Amino acid sequence: MLALCFEKLGIDYKLYERAKKLEEIGSGIWLSPNALQVIEWINPKLLEEIQNAGNSFNRILVADHLLQPISNSNQDFVKKRFGFTTMAIHRGKLQKILYAYITKENIVLNKSFVRYAPNANHSYKVTFQDNTTVDTQSLIGADGINSKVRKQLFPKSKLRYSGQTCWRGVAEFEVDDQLGPVGFTLWGKKLQFGVSKIEQGKTYWFAVKLSEPNQTDDRKTLKSKLCKMFSEFHPIVNELIGRTEEAKIIRGDLSDLELLNSWYHKNICLTGDAAHSMTPDLGQGGAQAIEDAYYLANFIKASEDYEEAFHKFYTFRKAKVQKLVKQSRATSKIAITNRLLEIIRNFILKYTPQKFMERQMIELYEIDKTVANP
Ligand SMILES: Cc1cc2nc3c(=O)[nH]c(=O)nc-3n(C[C@H](O)[C@H](O)[C@H](O)COP(=O)(O)OP(=O)(O)OC[C@H]3O[C@@H](n4cnc5c(N)ncnc54)[C@H](O)[C@@H]3O)c2cc1C
Repeated sequence: MLALCFEKLGIDYKLYERAKKLEEIGSGIWLSPNALQVIEWINPKLLEEIQNAGNSFNRILVADHLLQPISNSNQDFVKKRFGFTTMAIHRGKLQKILYAYITKENIVLNKSFVRYAPNANHSYKVTFQDNTTVDTQSLIGADGINSKVRKQLFPKSKLRYSGQTCWRGVAEFEVDDQLGPVGFTLWGKKLQFGVSKIEQGKTYWFAVKLSEPNQTDDRKTLKSKLCKMFSEFHPIVNELIGRTEEAKIIRGDLSDLELLNSWYHKNICLTGDAAHSMTPDLGQGGAQAIEDAYYLANFIKASEDYEEAFHKFYTFRKAKVQKLVKQSRATSKIAITNRLLEIIRNFILKYTPQKFMERQMIELYEIDKTVANP
């Protein structure tokens, strides 16, 4: 997305990606209105294509394990404010659409960043895994939660394991018409299960459980293990697991990044998960990476100097992002908790005034349009 923002503003760049080719891998992702506004700013046609390839929500629901609502948010107010609501899409499909909009000559695949070193003339020499190098005036590390750029720039930075592991899959299954336009999560029995239709006949799900880190699954028994784990949940959960190709279920431990005091040093800057990885509980990690792209590109365009732009970027973004890192982590703790705290949590959520929730969502989804360069 950063590359697309650079192209929109006519900023020269080269993107180095370690993947050998771009494949349709991964499961689903929710794109909230803050991310969608950035995409609309890049190109309204791109937004339309993404919306057509995914599924927009009219409700966001948190329910108990039997699908009884705890918090049920009609999204009409979001649509009225921004013109669209949160949507879900297959990650591979999203990537394919984005790739179609990019200048291919600017993308170099199969280039895995290893390290950088300052040159005498204030530029940097970047070395890749294949021992090739490039010289650059500035380097932006958008290389995800395990960022190698971050590890070199801030060697003391630390990932924090959340204590939870997550399986994700896409079922060849269509939820009924009532649930089709709903993004919903079931909380209960010390487990969490999220569901959203991503396109005709395909439903994305994720399952979260407390776990020691670095555990592995026996592929042959994975589906029956998950079905047993969620046997007390609403039958839709086992239906979805059952209709998913076993080999394509992805497992990953959930971590976030301890807050950094800065995201840049001189002409090197971090962005997205490399700078501020959060747990996925608010569905905001990707949206914040997309917001980053918008602000970072616009600050670079408006400034003569990279370090000045990076400083502006960090100062502008840190409050919102750091709040979300904390809120995501707190939500992960309340989503999976003991029975007594569940009762208190459900009571509080049920009686939180609608207007208050709506204000919070609007604040989260708002982006600052005044920073956009013409
Ligand atoms: C289970 C789960 C569910 C989630 N659901 C949502 C959701 O619904 N909505 C949402 O907004 N967010 C969600 N997130 C968060 C979201 O996936 C991330 O925040 C987002 O992908 C971060 O984007 P990024 O570009 O910073 O990093 P990444 O998406 O990780 O991209 C980093 C890129 O850098 C490349 N790379 C890595 N190392 C190197 C290297 N050394 N050299 C060259 N290239 C390299 C990688 O191959 C990759 O292409 C979820 C996360 C998880 C774990």
